[in-house]
Amino acid sequence: MGSGQCPEPVYIFMISIKGLHKKAWKQQSKVRRMIEKNICYTCEKPTGSQLGHCEHGDSLDFDYHDGTWTKPRWLRTQCSGCNLFRNGKQVVFAAKLVKEYGPEILEIMLKQKHDVRKWKRDELEEIYKEYKELETTLMA
Ligand SMILES: [Zn+2]
Repeated sequence: MGSGQCPEPVYIFMISIKGLHKKAWKQQSKVRRMIEKNICYTCEKPTGSQLGHCEHGDSLDFDYHDGTWTKPRWLRTQCSGCNLFRNGKQVVFAAKLVKEYGPEILEIMLKQKHDVRKWKRDELEEIYKEYKELETTLMA
């Protein structure tokens, strides 16, 4: 190429926050289901195909941090029957958390769910990386 020619354009594709969120969530869900052996937390059947929340945070917008999203305690393997069609079976979910951690756990969760702020790219990348590494460890 001669020196007088225009350089080839360089395209940089940036994954959106929503895309990063989905990627990190999918990875977290996959690894949690591996660890929990696909056992649904609320009906105990081995048909868990999702990661369910005991309680969602105040924002369900992908661009915003959901206060319960990064707290592994609030997230458990669930089947689609419990998670989607029975509203997450929140009462059973909460009762089991109380059994595991004691009654104060609910108050902590209800406080943390208000923790809403915009995600930073590196936070989501960090979550993805963490669960990717965990997956590699589990597969070894
Ligand atoms: Zn279930």
